[in-house]
Amino acid sequence: MKLHVLRCGTIRVSGTVPFGNTVDLKSTFRQIAEPDSRRVVLPVSVFLIEHPCGLVLVDTGWCREISPAGVYDSAAVRRLLPAHLAAFYRPCLPPGEAIHEQLAERGLSPRDLHTVVLTHLDPDHVAGLRHLDGAGRIVLPEDEYFWSCRTVYKTRQPQSLWIDRPIERLYYRGSPLGPNRWANDLFGDGSLMLVNVPGHTDAPAAVLVRSGRSFVLLAADAASSPRNWREGITPGFGFDRRMQLKSLRWIAETAADPACAAVLCSHDPAVPSGTIVF
Ligand SMILES: [Zn+2]
Repeated sequence: MKLHVLRCGTIRVSGTVPFGNTVDLKSTFRQIAEPDSRRVVLPVSVFLIEHPCGLVLVDTGWCREISPAGVYDSAAVRRLLPAHLAAFYRPCLPPGEAIHEQLAERGLSPRDLHTVVLTHLDPDHVAGLRHLDGAGRIVLPEDEYFWSCRTVYKTRQPQSLWIDRPIERLYYRGSPLGPNRWANDLFGDGSLMLVNVPGHTDAPAAVLVRSGRSFVLLAADAASSPRNWREGITPGFGFDRRMQLKSLRWIAETAADPACAAVLCSHDPAVPSGTIVF
């Protein structure tokens, strides 16, 4: 199996976002107001899998409209995100990095995508959906959709980015996998599992891709980097630290499995663009 790591822009966020070790309203307000000197630039990675059933894209990155000239453009960001999210993320999408641009570079169009998996509905993961008209199917865990529709979370996951898209909602089911033993077997053969890893949001999915005896785990935002599960430090952006810790413990166990070829986080600067064969 081949898995391509594609960089779809960056976020410039508070240094407490990857390793804050706490999640509460006070720290979120501080992150929104954080001065530049205390921010870090992190990649927004998406993953293109050459699965035997077809091409599977995991997450979609930023959209071109948020960074029309390929540089940080506060006015453009404010046209797509409310002020608090614009200030939190400070997104940028360099030329050629939007998902449709990267597909075209490979001679592909959205119609060539068998499935698009959304790990959760935060804007850095779904803004690129607008570039993917024609993709075979777009899937998301139902619990994540429901969570985002509850009033308070509308402020974190602007519905304008995804509510009109043809998203198919999947149910987690009992499974030996995951911190809550809850997963969805997308192709019915164990080759691509959406594993419930709560904490960052209520029901985000990590994606476990299996090829023969080995597998890669795409941890999405359940961790910012291996430091989180190795040192037990939770990311400083989420909604439930206790659940974040539980998910990190499961990721640590999974990473220690000799069959695990890699665990990749969506915003880890140490994960380079490129191809993993496993
Ligand atoms: Zn994210």
